[in-house]
Amino acid sequence: MSYFRPAIDAMTGYIPGEQPKPGTKIIKLNTNENPYPPSPKAMEVLHNLDGEWLRRYPDPFAREFCQAVSDALGVPADWIIVGNGSDDVLNVLVRSCAEGSERKVLYPMPTYVLYRTLSAIQPAQVVEVPYPADFQLPIKELIAANGAITFIASPNSPSGHVVPLDDLRELAQQVSGIVVVDEAYTDFAEYSALRLVQEFENVIVLRTLSKGYSLAGLRMGFGVANPKLLAGLFKVKDSYNIDAIAIAVGTAAMRDQAYKNACADKVKISRTKLAQDLKNLGWKVLDSQANFVLATPTEGNAESIYLGLKERGILVRYFKQPGLEDKLRITVGTDEQNQMLVEALVSVNK
Ligand SMILES: *Cc1c(COP(=O)(O)O)cnc(C)c1O
Repeated sequence: MSYFRPAIDAMTGYIPGEQPKPGTKIIKLNTNENPYPPSPKAMEVLHNLDGEWLRRYPDPFAREFCQAVSDALGVPADWIIVGNGSDDVLNVLVRSCAEGSERKVLYPMPTYVLYRTLSAIQPAQVVEVPYPADFQLPIKELIAANGAITFIASPNSPSGHVVPLDDLRELAQQVSGIVVVDEAYTDFAEYSALRLVQEFENVIVLRTLSKGYSLAGLRMGFGVANPKLLAGLFKVKDSYNIDAIAIAVGTAAMRDQAYKNACADKVKISRTKLAQDLKNLGWKVLDSQANFVLATPTEGNAESIYLGLKERGILVRYFKQPGLEDKLRITVGTDEQNQMLVEALVSVNK
């Protein structure tokens, strides 16, 4: 007999992007971290943290952080659920809403692979609907499959495109389950779906501090939705899922919108330059509203370029997946890092 449930034996675990030790001399453009440091105000809070904060259990609802989100985004503080990264909120959503073939999980492909992993653990049946080449949302197919949860990453990873609000509205109107708009990259995008949570009680918008706020190591994300929807999720989440340090530091980061926006503006300018430099090498580059680009080399194959870059100390992301085998997802770094990448590509291609 196996030690594990059949669903666990049958699945493959999620494979995170490589994380070399801090301090390793490497240009890390593989997991979409922000190249700039966290807000100085957040770092000051970290340095001045009192032991008393750690002696006690943290606030299970991170209300101080929720108030900061409320002030920054203009949503009521009691419309927010905070997670140990937005991955934690994704996990709570699947635990709360999906099961077997009666309560399916749906998402367009390619997208964030964790949606599949979480569903396999539950287990819940998944329906993966392919995106067409132009990345128009396959609304009709998604509506027809009628999931208990429909995940839409917008901007999507790895494509970088944003899903139009009217498409999301149509989806939210027509499905009986929850629509999750995963906005991990929204700080680099032109518009957000946040207002849809006021229009539809079955929509939850997810945000994270990992990308825009340069705090991937802190593990903090949150969902915004009607309290009716949050009530079920609060029953499922761990009581103390966000630690006291994350609450204190995350609150300061959330209150420093000016710093976050300034870093995002730099990343967006670098994104345009990087895309142009890759196009100048003859690569095809999708328009991106995230802090990465999905690019297709015209010379040499993507996997060997990925390996060649790795040898030269530059990590990018290669997905051995249908539709992505000929592409690389490259995080936008500082201009200096991007320049070193482009120079390395010239020598890898030789
Ligand atoms: C990075 C990412 C997340 C996870 O963010 P964390 O808050 O670090 O857990 C969620 N969704 C997508 C699409 C992402 O790319």
